[in-house]
Amino acid sequence: MDIELPAALSHAYLITGGNGARRAALAKRLAAAYLCEGNGPAPCGRCRHCRKVAGDIHPDVTVLAPLPDKKEIGVDQARALRADVYIRPNEGRRKVYLIDPADSMNPWAQNALLKVLEDGPAYAAFLLLAEEPGRLLDTVRSRCEPMPLPPEETPVDPELAEKAEALAELLFAGDEFQVAKGLTALEMEKPKADQLAALLAAAEDRAAGRLARDPARGARVLRALKTCRENAVFNPGPGHTLGRLAAELFQDA
Ligand SMILES: [Zn+2]
Repeated sequence: MDIELPAALSHAYLITGGNGARRAALAKRLAAAYLCEGNGPAPCGRCRHCRKVAGDIHPDVTVLAPLPDKKEIGVDQARALRADVYIRPNEGRRKVYLIDPADSMNPWAQNALLKVLEDGPAYAAFLLLAEEPGRLLDTVRSRCEPMPLPPEETPVDPELAEKAEALAELLFAGDEFQVAKGLTALEMEKPKADQLAALLAAAEDRAAGRLARDPARGARVLRALKTCRENAVFNPGPGHTLGRLAAELFQDA
C-alpha cells in the first residue's frame, strides 16, 4: 500500500524501513512529486516531468550511490554533489538528490553534505534512503524529516483477508448487539489460537485503514483488537478472547 505524501514537501527526507526496493520506489514518487507540473495531487504520473522521473531520465534527478567497486560513498562524491547543488535546475523547478543508500556514506562524506542539507538553495531537495539510519550522524539525521515505511504486509490467504475485512467492518459499524452476535458466530467456528491471532492482526490492519472515517471509534476498535490479540496468546480459547473484544470495545462507549 502506498503511503500518503505530505501536501507541502520538506527539502529533505530520511526514508527508512521497508526494504531497499520499497524505499527506492517511495523516493521515486517523492522525486516526481517535487518536479511534477500536472494538475491535482503530485505526482500526477502523466506530465513530462513525472514520465521522465519514472523512466530514470530526468536531468534534475541525481542519484548518489557507492562507485561500482566501492562499499562506501566517499567524500569526493559528496563534494562533487555539493558543488552540483549550486548549478540551477535544467528543466524542472527543483533539483532532487537521491542518496541511496545514505548509510553507506562515510563520516567525511556526511560532514561534507551538512551545509547543503542545512541551507542549500531553495530548489534543492534531498532524499536519503537508509536501512540503518543509526549509521548516520545525528547532525545529518536532524536535518531531514523522517519518513519511515510501515513494515512489510505479510501475505494473507484470501479467506483470512475476507474474514478480517468483515470483522473490521463489524467492529467499526456494528452496535453492541450486532457485534456480540457476530463474535458469537466467529466463536462457533472454533478457531485455533494462532488462527485467531492472525485474524485479529489482519483485522487490526483493516481497521487502521478505516481510521479516517471515525477516529474515535477507530481508536477504540484498534485498542480492543490489540488487547485481545495479546490476550489470545496467554488465554487460549476463542470464547474468552472474543468475549473480551466486545467488552473492550463497548466498556466506555
Ligand atoms: Zn506530474
